Amino acid sequence: MTDVTGTSNPGTSTTNPGRAGTDPGPAATPPAKSAWPANAAHQAAVARLQRAYAEIPPGQPVRLAKRTSNLFRFRDASPSAGLDVSAFGHVLSVDPASRTAVVGGMTTYENLADATLRHDLMPLVVPELKTITLGGAVTGLGVESSSLRNGLPHESVIEMEILTGDGRVVTAADGNSHDALYRGFPNSYGTLGYALSLTIELDPVAPYVHLRHFRFDTPEACMEAVAQIAQDGSLSGHRADFVDGTAFSLDEMYLTVGAFSDVAPWLSDYTEDRIYYQSIRGPKEDFLTIRDYLWRWDTDWFWCSRAFGVQNPVIRRAWPRRYRRSDTYRRLVALDRRYGLSATLNARRGRPEREFVTQDVEIPVERGAEFLRFFADRVGMSPVWLCPLRLRSGRAWPLYPMRPGQVYVNFGFWGTAALPPGGADGHYNRQIEDQVTALGGHKGLYSTSYYSEDEFSKRYNGAEYARLKHEYDGDGRLPTLYQKCVTVE
Ligand SMILES: Cc1cc2nc3c(=O)[nH]c(=O)nc-3n(C[C@H](O)[C@H](O)[C@H](O)COP(=O)(O)OP(=O)(O)OC[C@H]3O[C@@H](n4cnc5c(N)ncnc54)[C@H](O)[C@@H]3O)c2cc1C
Repeated sequence: MTDVTGTSNPGTSTTNPGRAGTDPGPAATPPAKSAWPANAAHQAAVARLQRAYAEIPPGQPVRLAKRTSNLFRFRDASPSAGLDVSAFGHVLSVDPASRTAVVGGMTTYENLADATLRHDLMPLVVPELKTITLGGAVTGLGVESSSLRNGLPHESVIEMEILTGDGRVVTAADGNSHDALYRGFPNSYGTLGYALSLTIELDPVAPYVHLRHFRFDTPEACMEAVAQIAQDGSLSGHRADFVDGTAFSLDEMYLTVGAFSDVAPWLSDYTEDRIYYQSIRGPKEDFLTIRDYLWRWDTDWFWCSRAFGVQNPVIRRAWPRRYRRSDTYRRLVALDRRYGLSATLNARRGRPEREFVTQDVEIPVERGAEFLRFFADRVGMSPVWLCPLRLRSGRAWPLYPMRPGQVYVNFGFWGTAALPPGGADGHYNRQIEDQVTALGGHKGLYSTSYYSEDEFSKRYNGAEYARLKHEYDGDGRLPTLYQKCVTVE
């Protein structure tokens, strides 16, 4: 066990096993109870937070005081100070022997990946944006190119230490007395409680990822290839440790299949002049270090950095490298939203108003081509990100009802679309919600939603949510999921 915050035991470090992915390796065993954050500083921080929470007067809104966020709901700054959770922003320990880590709930994946890569290990799913936190990805769901193999981030959580809405600190794990909370925490968005530390499984890595970009000229052919990869674990003989895709148009879409590799004849770098999403169009093959692979999308926030001119070579060179990051761009968007800068500029130029269409949706692979055709026809934004996924476990997670065994494709689109004359906010997002429902899919809740309360309850298992809310936040100190994700408070 290595205590990342201090002492280490060199005797337990592991060697790189060569490659991961298809190698199931020894099953991760939950660490013994003594491996729980025995760390005195952590225990003291938990006690402090519990006291601070108890001191918030009933009826006063509760919020996390966090430096970063990846939510796409921009609300006026809250007058309340917020709970100081800075003590929960680091990795408590990594155990190469059991391939597990104990991690503060507000630890960013950037810091988490750095701590585990030192041991040639990584979390089973690492979302693309550096400042997404482990707690945020578990309570708000996450997906990445290992999700076809490894499911969603919460599926490799062994246990969680949670400050519940009613002020208790409980340990929720599969099969223990808080099993219902463990299963209902994903997609609860911090409305049942806050994860203070989580024990997670880790996967071995190789030093490099060998990428191949396969082109498709119809959505149908692309979706058939996804289904084939799901069945075979490879495409044209290239092992699919990772798979995601980029649709530039209905006749130009790519699946990028990544295989762990011990060797790299060359290495690309997309943090300088070259831009990752543009590289997908050719050449067909590429190599990245595992760390650069994990953050390949962050430097340009997928393609969204183009809105700030960062893809113009002159501006790019002048833009300090340390600010070529998704959190910088998100802060700029938040400022723009707060002061209405682009809306004012648009209006002055006599251009139509624009609606934010920033969403991730999951559609069964058999209906994926229909979704892409609908989206190109009705919304027309491009590119669109494609990420195949399948639940890792045979049991469903109640608040985000994906079917075990079913292959889904996550479609991500992040930007704005010009409203037609007379069109109001919600014009595009409502159509997308309806189409997602019609195709048997689900929508992530990190952005705007327009569902009625009744519809929302049907989509996200309102009955189970109500039961959990009663059990863990009976006095309703935290908002409900509907209030938080749909109602603009
Ligand atoms: C443009 C864009 C692209 C995205 N792309 C992806 C993607 O490709 N893959 C992916 O996985 N996700 C993606 N996301 C979604 C992102 O993973 C979720 O928004 C996630 O919830 C953000 O986590 P965060 O740590 O930044 O949390 P925050 O944004 O700070 O918080 C999110 C919510 O979780 C709650 N919360 C935060 N920490 C905790 C905790 N420890 N315990 C309980 N509740 C907590 C907060 O109260 C809040 O309601 C994207 C989001 C955007 C805006």
